[in-house]
Amino acid sequence: MRMSKLFGHTLRQAPSEAQTTSHQLLLRAGMIRPSAPGIYTYLPLGRRVLHNIEEIVRQEMEAIGGQELLMPLTLTSEEVVGDLCRQELASYRQLPTLIYQIYPKFRDEYRARVGLMDAQEFIATEALSFHPDAEDVNGFYPQIYQAYANILQACQLETIAVETEDGHEFIVLCEAGRHTFILCSECPYAAHVEEAKFAKPESPQETERATEKVATPDCTTMAALANYLGVPLDKTLKVVFYATKEGEVIIAAIRGDLNINETKLKNALGIADLYTATEREILAVGAVPGYGSPIGVRGAKLVADDSVLLGCNFVAGANQDGYHLLNVNYPRDFQADILTDIAQAQAGHACHRCRSPLTETPGIEVGHLKGSETIGATYLDQSGKARPIVMGSYGLDLARLMAAVVEQHHDQKGIVWPAPIAPYQIHLVVLGANEEIVAKADEIYADLEGLGYQVLYDDRNESAGVKFNDADLIGVPLRLTLSRRTLEENALEVKLRWQEGRETIGLDELRDEIKRHRA
Ligand SMILES: [Zn+2]
Repeated sequence: MRMSKLFGHTLRQAPSEAQTTSHQLLLRAGMIRPSAPGIYTYLPLGRRVLHNIEEIVRQEMEAIGGQELLMPLTLTSEEVVGDLCRQELASYRQLPTLIYQIYPKFRDEYRARVGLMDAQEFIATEALSFHPDAEDVNGFYPQIYQAYANILQACQLETIAVETEDGHEFIVLCEAGRHTFILCSECPYAAHVEEAKFAKPESPQETERATEKVATPDCTTMAALANYLGVPLDKTLKVVFYATKEGEVIIAAIRGDLNINETKLKNALGIADLYTATEREILAVGAVPGYGSPIGVRGAKLVADDSVLLGCNFVAGANQDGYHLLNVNYPRDFQADILTDIAQAQAGHACHRCRSPLTETPGIEVGHLKGSETIGATYLDQSGKARPIVMGSYGLDLARLMAAVVEQHHDQKGIVWPAPIAPYQIHLVVLGANEEIVAKADEIYADLEGLGYQVLYDDRNESAGVKFNDADLIGVPLRLTLSRRTLEENALEVKLRWQEGRETIGLDELRDEIKRHRA
């Protein structure tokens, strides 16, 4: 491709709305352009990268027997999939089978801030496997897991696999990620902060003492209370009041050194929404804001974190303004309707598997694998009996993957594409408009293309500075430069994008040299 003809140009500066590195560099390098909020056009350079990623996906899917198809976007995919299975899969002889598609997808939740990472429309790959039973899905799962891991590895994208309730998510750890992940500093444990488990520290064991009411003026926060009474936070009991949509008051209780995780709380209750209770709602169940506890309340549901079992003689609110109770014990003094883990894991907590310290880091999901679900279609088993087809589903967000690669592979000058997905293999730069040099560069360009290389040829009438800056920005792995000086030596300058050094090689050695770099 001659750069003088290339559709799309580089930008000196990224538009101010681009706040993440990948968004800035993809815009600046002429890979993408915004078309509407959250919707991007892939310019030819960006389309080539995406195409290369798609080809890697195809290779890996075909290697485990996947067959590509394309489903219509106008219907929900569950409907389409159910219908397809009813039409095409009748007998156990056809199972298991794997289909996949690469298609534009829409995201409901949308934030323009992170560019391609969170584009509203993006290119996704979705694979679906159909099985005679759940056991068969589980048997196939390691294969698809490995295929997805291979795709990510081929793109040189470092990810961690996070276990979810029904499978795995592949997570890229990067500053631009908008979710928080908890990782163990020693073992492979990793989880969404909303789901992360940890080993709760035990408090020293004591014998239970009798409850006693004490005056605690102006102690409406846990810190003020612990300070006033001179007790550590883990000797206090914290409560938070919530209300459901239906107006039921939920009291969440937890040891004072820990925090409540609202996702875990909602999961424990089996509901989607929780609101902060109003003062009126709190008073209505017999509790007092700032001095609240589960003791003596009526008509509220109590969810207690299991940390209430890991200590005793807690200080808790007396449900009376200006007073707390000493020596509150579970279950002697209050009983929970639900006793489970609703605590938020934080950096510094201990891993529940190996007790090493946990760390917190931002990240973003690029793919997910999900185990068995039924889809309302059946097949006939060996005895002619109808049985439900069980499906596994596996998705990758290729646009996010592309942006994540840029987050992990760039320097101050621009993108440093991993060779397998780079838009071109070779960036040929010619310096000087002299007829002889241009003729030689044209010849080299034709030669390289003839050898089957994908070459971006900077034949523009621009300065060396502009050409080199653009080459660095676009990030093609191998740069070849022909100038008056090198031509005098019948040579070319060779530079790898990820290395500082340059070397000069004779024109006759060019073929061997390129082969060496590709190997
Ligand atoms: Zn661990």
